[in-house]
Amino acid sequence: MTLTDTDSAIATMTCGTCLEPGRFVLERRALPLEAPEGWVLVDIAAIGICGTDYHIHEGKHPFLDYPRVIGHELAGHIASGPDAGQLVVVNPYISCGTCRACRRGKPNCCAAIQVLGVHRDGGMCARIAVPRGNLYPAEGLSVQQAAMVEFLAIGAHAVARAGAGPEDRVLVVGAGPIGLGTALFARLAGAEVHLSDRSPERLDLARQLCGFDLLHGPDLPAISGDLAEGFDLVFDATGNAQAIEAGFPLLAHGGSSVLVSVVKEDISFADSEFHKREARIIGSRNALKADFEKVMEAMRAGRIPTEALISDVIALADLPERFDNLVADRDSIVKILVTP
Ligand SMILES: [Zn+2]
Ligand SMILES: [Zn+2]
Repeated sequence: MTLTDTDSAIATMTCGTCLEPGRFVLERRALPLEAPEGWVLVDIAAIGICGTDYHIHEGKHPFLDYPRVIGHELAGHIASGPDAGQLVVVNPYISCGTCRACRRGKPNCCAAIQVLGVHRDGGMCARIAVPRGNLYPAEGLSVQQAAMVEFLAIGAHAVARAGAGPEDRVLVVGAGPIGLGTALFARLAGAEVHLSDRSPERLDLARQLCGFDLLHGPDLPAISGDLAEGFDLVFDATGNAQAIEAGFPLLAHGGSSVLVSVVKEDISFADSEFHKREARIIGSRNALKADFEKVMEAMRAGRIPTEALISDVIALADLPERFDNLVADRDSIVKILVTP
């Protein structure tokens, strides 16, 4: 078969694809020229890389079919139509709109959710189609800030789920990007915020980049003195079942445990301890539009140290050779942004 002129004229784009665990490559795919009814084409300007992407690369993600174009932390410009050129933040959680959760205003935990870059191909490419309702205008934000809204919205959502306020003493377990985002929004809510992590490197970053100073190593059972009564809210952002379980005894009476991360294993706790505290366990999944808006508002007000949180900006062309190192160095990295 020979290429005709028409074939060779088909516009293509480069996509960052995990072919299978451990194999991240650049692929050429057709540039989308049309979006389905109610969807909009977005020219991607920046993509954040997060723990989920590392898990996909490592083959540790619980529900994922390969090959997959990754990328769910997306900022871009509307490609055509009356709003062409407008900078938008993409909400990557595509919900069905009809299930019980969707009908009750919780599309973030839609029973048939399709997350871009996880359940379906994501935005690590030049252009992607997204439902119009999943695009939020990013006026007043830089492209880089817009690409950081989604990961921070996860933390903002968890803090909103917990109803954190100025009376609360909060412990965030896990000082990676999601934990830091959670801690930032708990602090903005007025709470006293403690952070713990097994990695001294991550705790140093929390101190240097975000000014947190109530920091603890992994030896949490040793918490005593003023803290002996425990924490009103314990947020888990570790993705580690043992860390989640270790958090339960740290709850104050009347407190709540908020599970921001997800683990494959079962977790367990002593019911007598749980009951006597009248504790609550709160799941927190993804984020709502209100959380995205809250993050954008905080960014516009200069209340999020976005510059400091960017560890590096990498061109998509350079990502394949660097991906393994990013995975290996993740304790010293907060946010990597990729430009298509
Ligand atoms: Zn993410
Ligand atoms: Zn739904």
